[in-house]
Amino acid sequence: MIAVKGYAAKHAHAHLGPYSFERREVGVHDVLIDIRYCGVCHSDLHQVRDEWGGSIFPLVPGHEIVGTVSKVGSAVTKFKAGDLAAVGVFVDSCRKCDNCKKGMEQYCEQGMIGTYNAYEYDGKTLTYGGYSSSIVTAEAYTYKISNNLPLDRVAPLLCAGITTWSPIRHWQVSKGQRVGVMGLGGLGHMAVKLAASLGAEVTVLSTSVSKKADASKLGAHDFVVTSNDGDMKKYRKHFDFIVDCVSAPHDISRFLKLLRTDGTIALVGLPPESVPVDPFALIDGRRSLAGSMIGGLKETQDMLDYCAEKKIVSDVEVIPIQQINEAYERMLKGDVRYRFVIDMATL
Ligand code: NAP
Ligand code: ZN
Ligand code: ZN
Repeated sequence: MIAVKGYAAKHAHAHLGPYSFERREVGVHDVLIDIRYCGVCHSDLHQVRDEWGGSIFPLVPGHEIVGTVSKVGSAVTKFKAGDLAAVGVFVDSCRKCDNCKKGMEQYCEQGMIGTYNAYEYDGKTLTYGGYSSSIVTAEAYTYKISNNLPLDRVAPLLCAGITTWSPIRHWQVSKGQRVGVMGLGGLGHMAVKLAASLGAEVTVLSTSVSKKADASKLGAHDFVVTSNDGDMKKYRKHFDFIVDCVSAPHDISRFLKLLRTDGTIALVGLPPESVPVDPFALIDGRRSLAGSMIGGLKETQDMLDYCAEKKIVSDVEVIPIQQINEAYERMLKGDVRYRFVIDMATL
């Protein structure tokens, strides 16, 4: 077994603190990655605080992982020691079901295996995430990343990037379309960059007036403060597509009314509570409310390659791991521009 240092929550609501554990030896199809940076996703916070239920402790979060390969198994072909590599939100899936065969491993019929807070298919090995010194993963579930981008700013692409890219592609966002982005956090700021890169006319729908100047720098054309009913009214029946990246309960029906005929809101945010929907807001204009979860293996690699080509990276605040608990408090207040990334050298 390989000894690993990390940060874990020992039980729900506990602060994260140092935690030592072991990972499996490098198998023939595996790579060992020395983790250099790990992004901090709001899903980490939801799970550490057991807001979705079913969290397994001790919990080592982190699924926006980038680092350097230090060892490869004998059958590995994609990587060699010294290469950069990345790991996202899942580390395995059944590899046999229709969804896996179609490259939608995130919707695996057996259930994908999360990078942390999950049991592997043996039913007893708990997965531990990227707030740690190293990780062993199957090469098939490990991504190639460019040498030409700042590594700390690449990390958030592994969740925030792919989670917004997948619906943007699935609903065929294209040049000239009117796209709304609800919640300018880690996911939201990537949604703005990615939709704008495809030529869409992007409007940020935010509760934070202080983010207005940033929104335009990120590529947004307009900014709406959602508490302002007058501004919201101006945008009625305006958008072709909205991606909802909000982490807390909110009134979705107000936003459905902003869609044009046949428009769609794709929900990616995962507030812990159910959200009511006004049927009138949905049936008027044949609107759709849909959901989307991260992205598949090929789709994630394609997104990473696209971002490398277009030089799209996340806006980050790099923190030492010792500041992770404070970072969670700031994330809850919406005080992050726009993703915390842990420098794992501080571990
Ligand atoms: P984040 O960085 O904390 O951003 C969330 C944003 O939501 C905030 O910046 C804020 O934006 C807005 N917001 C927060 N509280 C709000 C409230 N009470 N009312 C209205 N708006 C509020 O979080 P994130 O990492 O981007 O994650 C966002 C959500 O997506 C989380 O629930 C996370 O679990 C989920 N997620 C889902 C997937 C998936 O596969 N579907 C993947 C990753 C994450 P403004 O200041 O602009 O209002
Ligand atoms: Zn995430
Ligand atoms: Zn499957």
